[in-house]
Amino acid sequence: MTPGGDEYVQLLDASGSQSKRPLFGLSNEQLTEAMHTLGQPAYRGKQLSQALYRQWNTTFDDISTLPKDLRLALSDTGFVVGLPEIAETFRSSDGTERYLVACGDGQTVETVWMPGGDGGEEGDGTEEAENLRATICVSSQIGCAVNCQFCLTARLGLLRNLTAGEIAGQVVAVLKRQNVKIGRDRINLVFMGMGEPFLNYDSFMDAVRLLVNEVGIAESRMTVSTSGIVPGIIRFGAEKVRPKLAISLNASNNLVREEVMPITKKWSINDVLEAVRRVPLRAKERITFEYVLLGGVNDRREHADEVAALIRRANIPAKVNLIVWNPGPGVDFHMPLAEDVARFQSRLMLGGIPAFIRRPRGRDIYAACGQLKRTLKSS
Ligand code: SF4
Repeated sequence: MTPGGDEYVQLLDASGSQSKRPLFGLSNEQLTEAMHTLGQPAYRGKQLSQALYRQWNTTFDDISTLPKDLRLALSDTGFVVGLPEIAETFRSSDGTERYLVACGDGQTVETVWMPGGDGGEEGDGTEEAENLRATICVSSQIGCAVNCQFCLTARLGLLRNLTAGEIAGQVVAVLKRQNVKIGRDRINLVFMGMGEPFLNYDSFMDAVRLLVNEVGIAESRMTVSTSGIVPGIIRFGAEKVRPKLAISLNASNNLVREEVMPITKKWSINDVLEAVRRVPLRAKERITFEYVLLGGVNDRREHADEVAALIRRANIPAKVNLIVWNPGPGVDFHMPLAEDVARFQSRLMLGGIPAFIRRPRGRDIYAACGQLKRTLKSS
C-alpha cells in the first residue's frame, strides 16, 4: 500500500541518510503534502503531479516548472523522480512488444504492448468493439503465488508485491516509449500480467486511482483479471472507481479446476460466482470469463456445455473469452486442436453465452497469456 503522510514527515525530517523515495506513485494530495513540508504552497504539488503524470519527466532537471532550488531540496530530502525504466525490449513479428521494466531494487517485471489490442474487448457492446485499440498488459506482482498449473509466471513463485508507483509506472513507461497522447490515442489497460492483482489489492487500486485521476485514462478502458480471490472480488464490488472485471475460470467444474488451478480448493467455482453476483454492474457492463483451452483437459464438448449452464444458472451478464493455451518450456500441457476450439465456441453460443476467441499475441517472444516469466530471449 502507498504509505501515508506520516511517513513523509519522517522522511523529510531525516538527515538524508535514508534510502531514496520515489515521487512517482504518490497521489496529488501526498505530493502537495510533501511540498507543504518543504514550506511550499499547494500549487507546487499540482505542478509536480503534472510533471510526473502528464509530462512523464524522468529526472529533476526535466521538471522546468519547479525552481532549481526546490528541485535540489527535493533531491536533498531523499526523493527521486522514480518513473520506472524499460530495461529490455523484445519485439514480435506481429508488432507486440514485451518489456522488462526495471524496479528500484534491481528486479524486473514484465509489461506487454499490443498495438492492435488483444481481442479481449470484443463483444463488449461498445463502439470500441469495432475499433480495436492498443492494449497494455500490466503486472501487479513480481512472480505469483497462485500456482496455476498452465502458467509460466507461477514457476517463479511470489518474489514480491509491486508498489502503486511500480504498477502505474509500467503504463507510463510504455505510453512514453510509444509516444501515446492521452485524449488523442485510444488505449486499453489489462491487469493480466505477472501476479494476482487481488493479492496486492491496496497497491493495485492505488495504481488504478493514479491512472484515472492523474494520468487521465478512464476506468472503463481498464480490465482486471483475477483467479477468483473471493474477499478481493467483494471489496472490488464496493469501489466507486473500478476497472471492468474478468474471472480466470479455465474449467467447467471444481474437479478439473482443482487440477489446473489449486486455488479452487480454497474458493470453489460457486464461491467465486456468488461473489461476482454481488458486484454492481454499470450500464452495458458484462463480466468476462477467461477460459484457457488446454488440449484434452478442459476443451471437450461436455465442458463447454457445463460452462454455459454454469453462467446461465449464475444469471450474470457475461461473455467468455477463449484463449488457446500458449506452450512454455517445462509446462506439461498440450495446445487444443483448432476444431476443438471452434466447437467449444459454438457450443457456448448455442448455450446462449457470447464467446470470443482471443487472438494470440507475441507468442514468439513469450509475451502471450501465461508466458510471462522474465524470459531473456525470443523463441
Ligand atoms: S495465471 Fe495469473 S494468477 Fe495464475 S499463476 Fe499465472 S499469474 Fe498467477
